[in-house]
Amino acid sequence: MKKVKTVLLLASTVLASFSAFAKVDGVIYAGKVLVKPEEDALTKQTLVLEDGKVSAIHEGYILPHKLGLKDVKLYDLKDYYVMPGMIDMHVHLTFERDKQVNPHAWLTQDDADYALNSIPYLQKTLDAGFTAVRDLGARYQVIFPLKRAVEKQLITGPRIFASGNAISATGGHGDMHGYRRDLTETMNTSLGICDGAADCQRAVREVIKYGADVIKITATGGVLSNTAAGVNQQLTDDELNAIVNTAHNLGRKVTAHAHGTQGVNAAIRAGVDSIEHGSYLDDESIALFKRHGAYLVPTLLAGHTVSKEVLNNPNMPKAIADKVRQVAPVVEKSFRNALKNQVNIAFGTDSGVSRHGDNAKEAQLMVEFGMTPKQVLVSATRSAAKLLGQEDNLGSLEVGKYADIIALKANPEEDISALSEVSFVMKNGVVYKNQL
Ligand SMILES: [Zn+2]
Repeated sequence: MKKVKTVLLLASTVLASFSAFAKVDGVIYAGKVLVKPEEDALTKQTLVLEDGKVSAIHEGYILPHKLGLKDVKLYDLKDYYVMPGMIDMHVHLTFERDKQVNPHAWLTQDDADYALNSIPYLQKTLDAGFTAVRDLGARYQVIFPLKRAVEKQLITGPRIFASGNAISATGGHGDMHGYRRDLTETMNTSLGICDGAADCQRAVREVIKYGADVIKITATGGVLSNTAAGVNQQLTDDELNAIVNTAHNLGRKVTAHAHGTQGVNAAIRAGVDSIEHGSYLDDESIALFKRHGAYLVPTLLAGHTVSKEVLNNPNMPKAIADKVRQVAPVVEKSFRNALKNQVNIAFGTDSGVSRHGDNAKEAQLMVEFGMTPKQVLVSATRSAAKLLGQEDNLGSLEVGKYADIIALKANPEEDISALSEVSFVMKNGVVYKNQL
């Protein structure tokens, strides 16, 4: 009994100190501020922050006491471009590809190793100005304890919306293969693996039971698989319909990893909310995106990173190298086609494939492929928030939204690479980076 009491006492002390920490009042003087991402930035504004939210915005620089505020922190961002924290809709915070690392190292790692190894990735992501991310899974469910640890402020990181395990067909892109049967059966959790509509309905319910905020499905194969069927549809129409209906009824959005045209189109027809990668889009895909209001999350940085690596590696099998060479121009064409036809585009990098913290490089590729800097800013703020279903809380700095705020030395509307030089990061009214 005594032990229980001690634990309870400890818990309440910890909770008290967290809630005291969470309530931050402050005032920001912003030289330029992007309040509504799709509109022009405003100049010389005073932002008032209360309870982790933007509570008021005033023209000019107003002294706190004239606003009836005493003893508040004043952040002087008069020489900076202030904007909502960026949102990356496709990351994998629990791993980072490193070709130097022994590919079988994961056989020796516990879930706790994965969680602890991920802590610097979360920190780097937040430091880079990404105050919210959608984590689209890895084999392990460790993203959920990481998410809870960030919420409790035990560790530093962005707001995390996570899928956990992806829903995948047996032997599909999200399943584990390439090992002896007995090893595969021992190592694989099978969570999320399903065959047939009823089984896929079960799988969706199961991943939600274990914490999924969003459902990730692998609707097609991957570009790098060294097989003829690499990018084709891997879930049947019946399975797709069952997944989408079940997820939507349980209040979860669905996003589909999809490269090949047929798989992209089938997924949108079934009602998924977004397509990840979308490498091969035809005119029908574009029409389907428009009709269903689905989002494209292009992850150009992943393709860019992988193709650079593959083409510089003399030991890469010719079949894969050829495929990569052939895919790169197709991805650009698909992106330009979507852009021209005003398909909803939300910013996403597939970080983990590229280095965590390099997320803003995606913005430069988007501009290279025809987006205006303004469109990129909207894609990484308002559009991403809409796709997250967090429009009321995130994606702009209007009154009532969370004080997730970053400041840049240069104006990204003039030069998009300014997004890679983040001087100041605030999340929920708490400052995590201050290099003013
Ligand atoms: Zn991914």
